[in-house]
Amino acid sequence: MLRSRLFQRDRPLSDAPILRLALPSPLRRLFDYRAPAGVPRAALQPGVRLRVPFGRREIIGVLVELAETSEVPADKLKPALELLDRQPPLPPTLFKLCLWTAQYYQHSLGDTLSWALPVLLRQGEPAEARQERFWHVAPGASLDDPRLARAPRQRQALATLAQHPHGVAHQLLSQLQLNKDSLDILLDKGLARVEVRRHAPSERHGPLLAQPELPLNPEQRAAFDAVHASFGSFNALLLAGVTGSGKTEVYLQLIRQTLEAGKQALVLIPEINLGPQTLERFSRRFNARIALLHSAVNDRERLDAWLAARDGEADIVIGTRSALFTPLKNPGLIIIDEEHDASYKQQEGLRYHARDLALVRARQENIPILLGSATPSLESLQNAHAGRYGLLRLTQRAGGAKQPRFLRLDVKSLPLDSGISMPLQQAIAQTLAAGQQVLVFLNRRGFAPTLLCHDCGWISQCPRCDARMTLHQRHNELRCHHCGHSQRQPSCCPDCGKVDLRPVGAGTERAEERLAILFPKTPVLRIDRDSTSRKDAMDKLFATIQRGEPCILVGTQMLAKGHHFPRVTLVAILDADGGLFSADFRASERMAQLIVQVAGRAGRAEEPGRVIIQTHLAEHPLLVQLTEQGYFAFAEQALSERRAAGLPPFAHLALLRGEAHKPGQAEDFLDSACAEAELMLAELGLDGVELLGPVPAPMERRAGRYRAQLLLQANARAPLHRLLTPWSQALEQLPGGRAVRWSLDIDPIDL
Ligand code: ADP
Ligand code: ZN
Ligand code: ZN
Repeated sequence: MLRSRLFQRDRPLSDAPILRLALPSPLRRLFDYRAPAGVPRAALQPGVRLRVPFGRREIIGVLVELAETSEVPADKLKPALELLDRQPPLPPTLFKLCLWTAQYYQHSLGDTLSWALPVLLRQGEPAEARQERFWHVAPGASLDDPRLARAPRQRQALATLAQHPHGVAHQLLSQLQLNKDSLDILLDKGLARVEVRRHAPSERHGPLLAQPELPLNPEQRAAFDAVHASFGSFNALLLAGVTGSGKTEVYLQLIRQTLEAGKQALVLIPEINLGPQTLERFSRRFNARIALLHSAVNDRERLDAWLAARDGEADIVIGTRSALFTPLKNPGLIIIDEEHDASYKQQEGLRYHARDLALVRARQENIPILLGSATPSLESLQNAHAGRYGLLRLTQRAGGAKQPRFLRLDVKSLPLDSGISMPLQQAIAQTLAAGQQVLVFLNRRGFAPTLLCHDCGWISQCPRCDARMTLHQRHNELRCHHCGHSQRQPSCCPDCGKVDLRPVGAGTERAEERLAILFPKTPVLRIDRDSTSRKDAMDKLFATIQRGEPCILVGTQMLAKGHHFPRVTLVAILDADGGLFSADFRASERMAQLIVQVAGRAGRAEEPGRVIIQTHLAEHPLLVQLTEQGYFAFAEQALSERRAAGLPPFAHLALLRGEAHKPGQAEDFLDSACAEAELMLAELGLDGVELLGPVPAPMERRAGRYRAQLLLQANARAPLHRLLTPWSQALEQLPGGRAVRWSLDIDPIDL
């Protein structure tokens, strides 16, 4: 709808047009303003930012189109206050991507643009690379100048400047102990000069390759050739390569070709933790300008990197999810590493999937896109089966390392000591005795997921959620992992006053503590969000691991991603059963991906790896398939189950979530929403869209709010989306909507 309006130009517009702006508001509409005083028409290009009054505030909006008339009465129409850009900050291709995104995800365009723009641009900062002052020695100036004979500080300052032939940036003065007053006097005397130029990343220097490329093996070569042959036009390719099969080497060689063709490459990675590691590997390979964009860079750095990418001054852009919206002057290739990773889906606000949008972007920019993973998502595999993606396989580990062997360890009726069975303890002891490292995987932080009173049955229920608080013994705290609520660990039962409080179940803290007792001579290193919250903690841990002495790593899924632990030869998965029991139909897929990814950390060097999976369901068909025949056999089985059950990727989903302070409020709202949808389906004559619910959310109360959801399921995308656009607008008008916080999630990944 927005798009068609944007391009409608049936009659010439007057000199005082009406501006239709996208504002950072959840409302799915545009807002009308008059042009600011004194701004010529020609300056009002779609895409420019304007500062406008909004209620009592001033906010920044983006001009979408000019119009002749407005539904707002002329005397109510306010003038915009200020035009902020001479050129639209967002190039047309990105603007188009934002339009598409807003439409597909049923989100307000203004809010979508806010997600896409760097924070500083949302706040009105100029969308041009910074101008900076650089201090230089003036031509002909000399340290022997008689005017400096009795001014040692000025002489010293001039000497320092002389050591920097490219000048000293003003902001570095104090770092170089350059005194501003001395420089000002030098300037007056004509001995120093100031140059104002843009703050651009350094020029590329030397040959592009800083390090020789590895000769590709035949599978890598075939994958490389397939992507290379697609350069210059849209093509989607899925690189399914086992961990350590050399996917990254293929990326690097394709990026080289991209850069040599004068184009830029965009590389998305799932985790900010992988940023530095990826950056290091890329900068070892290339003399190139690399921009790193993730949530930990500050706003200024983010804007600088964004502008450099837009203006063609960055060759490679590496970033997490939101980097997908980085404009590129000469895009050549998009790579999505670990394409199956759930972190590509944003779970708040604009609930976009960066991988799915990257495909749209590649199509719009007419460039190839490569999705890589050892454990492709069922969606991507199905796209490959259906011929929409080319499928490239790397089946062997590069460099000769062997695939790990899997063992399902049936722990039914075995005693578990802090989650660790006796046979597993023996395997750990054996591995350590052989001088090797062990990785123990447990996807649960803290000491124990529950604290229980053995006398009266009290449990550590979160007061704000339908969930239990986790015991974090090291901090003497109970913490809720769902709402962040925390309280001191009670010394006696809050209900009966007795002191027999017992931790139930095991988290990483408990496993760590127990392993340290069982193996007192071996270092036990815990890696999870609690242990690595400090920036350097992770680096220190990895340095210890890389030294290669026997040790035990205990950690959550942070361990599963990307890292290489060549000396780890035993991987123990303490609990695989959650993924087989869960009500969420994606749980088994996630479990399989996690197991294979964790397993992939092991035995990368000469020694083959072993993976022991503790389970109560040792004969579960999916687990058997996964461990005996590998991920692809598992995926085929899982896909056929999904097909039979009519679930994604064979169906399309949208989820309307609601939450409210009072029980029943959200359900009431969803009930009206459901009635509205039924009405619309009938009016529009749409078939094949099913409404399921409303039902209480899997965790009904969370952070003090009662939650419910309504699922829309369709066997084809078209009817679903034909319903969604009018429906989402109708939802804004529904009575009861004020008391209910609601959101619409298109292609939800957690139900
Ligand atoms: P992936 O990205 O699939 O996990 P990597 O690209 O990181 O795999 O490769 C795993 C290891 O194998 C790395 O140490 C890499 O240097 C090495 N490697 C990759 N390709 C080759 C090759 N063609 N010949 C020799 N070693 C290779
Ligand atoms: Zn009690
Ligand atoms: Zn809670």
